[in-house]
Amino acid sequence: MNNILVIGGGGREHALCWRLKQSRTAKQIFCAPGNAGIAEDAICVALGSHDAIVDFCKANNIALVVIGPEQPLIDGLANRLEAENIPVFGPSAKASALEGSKGFMKDLCKKYHIPTADYGFFNNISDAKQFLAGKSYPIVVKANGLAAGKGVIIALNESEAFAAIDDMFSGKISGGSQVVIEEFLEGEEVSFFALSDGDTAIEFGYAQDHKRAHDGDLGPNTGGMGTYAPPPVMTDELRRETMEKIILPTVAAMKKEGCAFKGVLFAGLMLTKTSVKLLEYNVRFGDPETQSLMMRFDGDLFQTLLAASTGRLNEAKISFRKESAMCVVMATKGYPGAYEKGSVIRGLEKANALQGVKIFHAGTEKKGDDFISAGGRVLGVTALGATIGEAQANSYKAVDLIDWPEGFCRRDIGWRALTYGA
Ligand code: AMP
Repeated sequence: MNNILVIGGGGREHALCWRLKQSRTAKQIFCAPGNAGIAEDAICVALGSHDAIVDFCKANNIALVVIGPEQPLIDGLANRLEAENIPVFGPSAKASALEGSKGFMKDLCKKYHIPTADYGFFNNISDAKQFLAGKSYPIVVKANGLAAGKGVIIALNESEAFAAIDDMFSGKISGGSQVVIEEFLEGEEVSFFALSDGDTAIEFGYAQDHKRAHDGDLGPNTGGMGTYAPPPVMTDELRRETMEKIILPTVAAMKKEGCAFKGVLFAGLMLTKTSVKLLEYNVRFGDPETQSLMMRFDGDLFQTLLAASTGRLNEAKISFRKESAMCVVMATKGYPGAYEKGSVIRGLEKANALQGVKIFHAGTEKKGDDFISAGGRVLGVTALGATIGEAQANSYKAVDLIDWPEGFCRRDIGWRALTYGA
């Protein structure tokens, strides 16, 4: 029997802990730092440094560390654990450049003919601005490095593009002093997941998300207000095309470049009229996509992630339930702008008790017996259903049992899928 440590403390990590706990050979799940909801499925521990994580793993005989967020990966936590012979699910710092540097990702795609938007990669303002001469609009200006979701500007004309470039080089928009400028692509976006052990890759589900704060996909961008899986737009043929033209060539390219990728490749895809193109790579699970994915995942998650971590992916058995899943995010009013913490959330037990429903916590704390809000995105109310429409009805049934006047959610998660009759 195996002890497992999950790094992170959001809804994604709650979904991973919950599913890991159900693995046949899992003994105890630990989560660092976790949150009040995760504490119902795992033991939460505070581990403030890579040293503390290594010491904890040794003291508790940890059989696998699963790293949730991108920052510890980019900071080299997987390298450190590997050097200590502790099995880890997550790529090395060098391989994490697929997410940490958009320029690295684009240059790799160009070198290995992986379909993505045409682009230029610049380390000074004048070259970046010169590249815009004669270009048509909209055009997309991206900060090279991590920018907490704020590093992509869709510029409608040259003056907006110039302003975006100025803001990125001056540091007003974070993400380092290099920019990628790329062709604007039109189509439907899909989040596509594949596991890799460094040599090969297998598909691990796909979902669609809603980034805008308000109904009708209006309002400011957020970390994600809801997801559903599987989206009907993603046909078997498009899945095959994605594996053959994007995922498998990327895994082969990374190996050839001396930075084999182990972990989960989260491809942001654009389904254009003519083909599938890669918008971006993330080197970890998506949040809130993982909440919908884990609802449907039907295998032994520990054995699957361990197989990917130890070069035995060909032994992994991946299966998903045939039902659909939906995750409706409940956030504190004001999010993604200013909001207050500390309001009491009631009714969680009743909502969680509904058949096929699981509430994942993204930002809660416990005060006495009460759960209180402790962040912008607070809950991921997740449900299964025979169709996307049923999963939606079940999610909102659970939402309606939650008594939290200071919170809000979108009421139209999944609208696009429903236009397909899903
Ligand atoms: P990224 O972080 O690169 O995925 O960009 C964030 C979001 O910006 C994506 O989910 C898209 O909605 C949008 N976006 C990024 N690149 C493009 C592009 N080339 N064309 C159209 N939209 C894009």
